[in-house]
Parts: sequence; structure tokens; C-alpha cells
Amino acid sequence: MSHLLALDLGCTKALVGVADAAGTILARRRIDTLVAEGAERAMARVAAALVEACAEVGLDPAGAAALGIGAPGPLDRARGVLLDPPQMPWGEAPVVELLLAALGVEDLPWRLDNDCKVGGLGELWRGAATGASSMVYFGVGTGVGGCIVLDGEPWHGVSDNAAELGHLTVWMDGPECGCGALGCLEGIASGSGIERRARRAITAGRATSLAHHGDNVRGADVAAAAAAGDELAIELLEDAATALGVAVGSMVNAFSPEVVVIGGGMAARGGGAWLDDVANRARAASFGPNRDASRIVGPALGEESVLHGAVHLATHAAAQAPPRAGVLVTLQQASARIGQPESYFSLHRGRFEDHARIPFPPPVRSVAGKDVWTFESLAAWDEARRARDPVRRGTEG
Ligand SMILES: [Zn+2]
Repeated sequence: MSHLLALDLGCTKALVGVADAAGTILARRRIDTLVAEGAERAMARVAAALVEACAEVGLDPAGAAALGIGAPGPLDRARGVLLDPPQMPWGEAPVVELLLAALGVEDLPWRLDNDCKVGGLGELWRGAATGASSMVYFGVGTGVGGCIVLDGEPWHGVSDNAAELGHLTVWMDGPECGCGALGCLEGIASGSGIERRARRAITAGRATSLAHHGDNVRGADVAAAAAAGDELAIELLEDAATALGVAVGSMVNAFSPEVVVIGGGMAARGGGAWLDDVANRARAASFGPNRDASRIVGPALGEESVLHGAVHLATHAAAQAPPRAGVLVTLQQASARIGQPESYFSLHRGRFEDHARIPFPPPVRSVAGKDVWTFESLAAWDEARRARDPVRRGTEG
């Protein structure tokens, strides 16, 4: 298998990476998404960043085995289309088609999923939940998303959009969420939810040191005011921690997962003391043997959870895709593809070139100091060789 391409498509930043076949990220690039310029131009910039990252390690995107993408939901995984995510108002955006066209490789195998699910997969694959067969991941940032893994597989549900943990009701008559419902986790615990609640309290004339920010109050202002003892700010952050604790405790009661990972920007800013506080609230909200059976931890991959998860998606896409026409391979990769030892082509090439009976196909080019061929040209040569060499058509090849 050849190298893998990965994309974490965020509303403000996009992170791309190129990984080797084992999933180790070799090079990455971070660019501005510039949502306002539209999907086509954003994907063109992403493609250029992928070309750059590949070039840094002497690779070519056209020779990649597969592409994995984490992007804001809702989305249609089967068609590779974003369904007008709130902070990416592109309507129905065929991001996969646009990206493959910009890369000039329409037949590259790919997988797309919701960024929070992909972030959860990253933590499961290479991060805080490595080795767990069940996990619940909360991504707490501007919004709140989630990923539920059962028996090692992410759960998508009948709608294909399961694990919308941000819209768990945690406060029956609580504040209005961006989705229109009352008391959703996202409306209380997310950055945007905290800001919205602060704005409303200021508008309602509540005494607070945040008043002078008016409609421009930001999450960071609330955190600073809380640290300085502002009553409203403390209350908002307390509510956020309680809401998240209740949601985590409910998930622990429902699924008894091995691990709960609380990731995202809020978690990164909150640090260890904040996580301990949320975990204690979660335990208070969970029941019986479930209470202490689940580990509640922070992420291990920092801002790269989604990128690692996207690499993981790419490994799946590559493993399940039929061999592509025109993919460039080394002699070792071609040997592996036909189930032979690494030295297979090198060995036979030497033997048959010496006798000049069947000329070996010329390499297409050299990538990172290694010659590469189309798989088809090597397979055709091997077939011709076998036809001339009936004695050796057996298991040895
Ligand atoms: Zn909601």
C-alpha cells in the first residue's frame, strides 16, 4: 500500500497531512479555510496544501492509496457531500468531488465522516482510548459533537447521524440552543452557548463586569471574569461543567464504555483541574457499578485528533478499495499486491533481463529516490514471464 492523504476541514482552519501506509504522519500543512470564498476555492487551496505536504517528503498525491476527511456535519457520507453545516454555509457542497478534481485524481478511494466522529476515531486509534473496544468521545469547542464506539466500530444509527451529543437535553427548561430546543448540552457547555448566555444576561441588565463587552462578549472574556470573581461568569462556567458532567454521566449509564474522552478547544483551555471537576460531576450523575468502571480522560492528540482519525479513515478506504488503474507502486509494493515476498520482482527481473527474453517495463518515474511503476505494467510482465516459464508457474511463482 502506498501513502495516505488526510484532511481535517474546520470552519476557520484546515489541517492536511500525508501519512505512510502504517499511518505515521510524515508531513502536514495548516491553512485558512476562508469559508466565505466558497467550497470550490477552499478545496483548491486544500489540494494545493496536500501537494505541498507530499512534495516535502518526495511523494505525489496522484500515487496515494486513499484519502480520509473529517468535516463539519450534517453530511452525507455515501455521496461525500456536506449538508449545509451551520458555520459553513455552502449549501449542499460536494467537497470530495471538488477536492479530487482539484488534485486531478478522480478515482482516489476516500472516506468522509463528521469531524467529531473522526476526532474520536483518532483518539481511539492513536490517542487516549487506544485499545478500547468501547468509547464515548465529547468534542467540546465552539459547539459540542460526539462519537460513540461500540465493539470497536463507530455507531452511526439509522439516520447515519447518531452521537449528536451536543443536543442531549441536560436541563429540562434550560436556555435555548442554536437548534431551537431548550436545555441542550451545546447551549450551555459550548463556547458559543456560554457566549450567547452571557449576551442575554448583559441585555437583561444583570450586574456583571462583562457588561461593557455588550454583544461582543467572548468565551475568553467570561473565563477571565470568572477568574477575577465575577458572579455571572462563575455561574455560567459552573452551569457548563454541570451540564457536561450530567451528559457524561448519562452516557456512562447508557453504555458503560471503557473510556470517555473529553476533547475539543474548551477541554484544551480548561486543563486537568477542569477535567477532574467534570469527571466528579459525571460520577455524581452515574449509577451503581457503572460509576467507577469508565475511565474519564482528556485527549492525547491535542489539535491533531481529527487529522489522525482522517488517516485512519484513509487506511479503511485503501484496504477496501479494489486496485486502482494507474497507481504507481514500488517493486516491493507490487510484490505484496500479488501476495509474493518483497524480493519477488527484483529477483525475477534480474533473471529474465539477463536472458533478454522478456524486457522489464521501464519505471514511470522516481519518487523519493525509488523507481515506481504502474501496477498494471508489472502485472502484465509477470503474466508474460509465467507463460514463458511453465516449470516455475507453481507456488514459487
Ligand atoms: Zn440543541
